[in-house]
Amino acid sequence: MARIVMKFGGTSVANVERIKNVARHVAREVNAGHHVAVVVSAMAGKTNELVAYTRETAPLHDAREYDAVVASGEQVTSGLLAIALQEIGISARSWQGWQIPIRTNDAHASARIEGIDPAKLLERFKDGQVAVIAGFQGVAPSGRITTLGRGGSDTSAVAIAAAIQAERCDIYTDVDGVYTTDPRIVAAARRLRRISYEEMLEMASLGAKVLQTRSVELAMNHHVNVMVRSSFEAPEDLAPALAANEGVVGTLVCDEDEIVEQQIVSGIAYSRDEAKVTLLKVEDKPGVAARVFGPLAEANINVDMIVQNISEDGRHTDMTFTVPVADYERAAKVIESAKAEINYKDLRGSTDVVKVSVIGVGMRSHAGVAARMFTALADKGINIQAITTSEIKVSILIDAAYTELAVRTLHSVYGLDKT
Ligand code: ASP
Ligand code: MG
Repeated sequence: MARIVMKFGGTSVANVERIKNVARHVAREVNAGHHVAVVVSAMAGKTNELVAYTRETAPLHDAREYDAVVASGEQVTSGLLAIALQEIGISARSWQGWQIPIRTNDAHASARIEGIDPAKLLERFKDGQVAVIAGFQGVAPSGRITTLGRGGSDTSAVAIAAAIQAERCDIYTDVDGVYTTDPRIVAAARRLRRISYEEMLEMASLGAKVLQTRSVELAMNHHVNVMVRSSFEAPEDLAPALAANEGVVGTLVCDEDEIVEQQIVSGIAYSRDEAKVTLLKVEDKPGVAARVFGPLAEANINVDMIVQNISEDGRHTDMTFTVPVADYERAAKVIESAKAEINYKDLRGSTDVVKVSVIGVGMRSHAGVAARMFTALADKGINIQAITTSEIKVSILIDAAYTELAVRTLHSVYGLDKT
């Protein structure tokens, strides 16, 4: 009998009606003869509400109590789903993180999973019982409740799948898979049948928020096959599609070599969460970059793209970098207060920028991907303000007003449009 993990996000368990729908999805897998562990999120909006309560009570508060509060959303949905399953004749019980236990470190509010003992779950599987597990939470060495960071129930699900050596980890969400780009911007976006872990990591960290980044890392390390699919299709209707072809109903996130018809470019991602800072006339000599980025690192500000030119006169140059929008003001302050040491003429900045990225493992073996990107954007008169690359990604920074045009253009240039 195959073991499978099914994870349902907040919109899929947003109310009792939907929880009953989830129970029918679970029933389908149980009836197919599988041993099932279900991982649930809190009802949509619940975690935000709980976070707001803690802030309202005290802006600065004990992270252990924050965890005690925000973990409660998943306790509710796990209990309700167990009831809904029992109601349709399926043996089930709820499990809180500490009951399994899902052991984490003590980094409250963003804890990492250190180990899961699957023994109790496997024991119950033998009796044909479904395990309904509260996502997002675990237990610290001290015995206190921890949470895994926002979006963390994806990570709970993958970790459980690894621990029970599940055949599949199905992530049910409000979209029916991973798309070549945001379908709200490009009507011709296509659902990908398969995407590699590495590409998914780039997509996830670049703003395509289907899966928590950490869950993808975990899946990659443990070779867990993750299927992203929609919980809004009628649960029974999925059965024939599943039997016919897994790719019909979702996107499989898997090892690169399990993808047969690999495209050079798999997707176009964009992120509006970028702000640009330019320092004019910085001295062109050793140590300057350290003096700029040292204080930013100390202030815990993540710098993403960096552009620095060689200087014409051998003495001065301009330097541009990007930071998350939320850190923009702080970054500017940090730099300004270090003005004397850094020694620059002026600081300019803008939050009206967007980062657009072309992603694909095929880039490793194919030249010319970046050149094609630059040509396509030039043809549309879009100016590139900064560039970064990795082995499987080229990112550019442009004026935010051109987001749609750029994404649409690139999507069709790399042959991703639905035909
Ligand atoms: N409920 C948690 C959150 O909203 C965890 C999750 O849904 O993945 O962040
Ligand atoms: Mg989520």
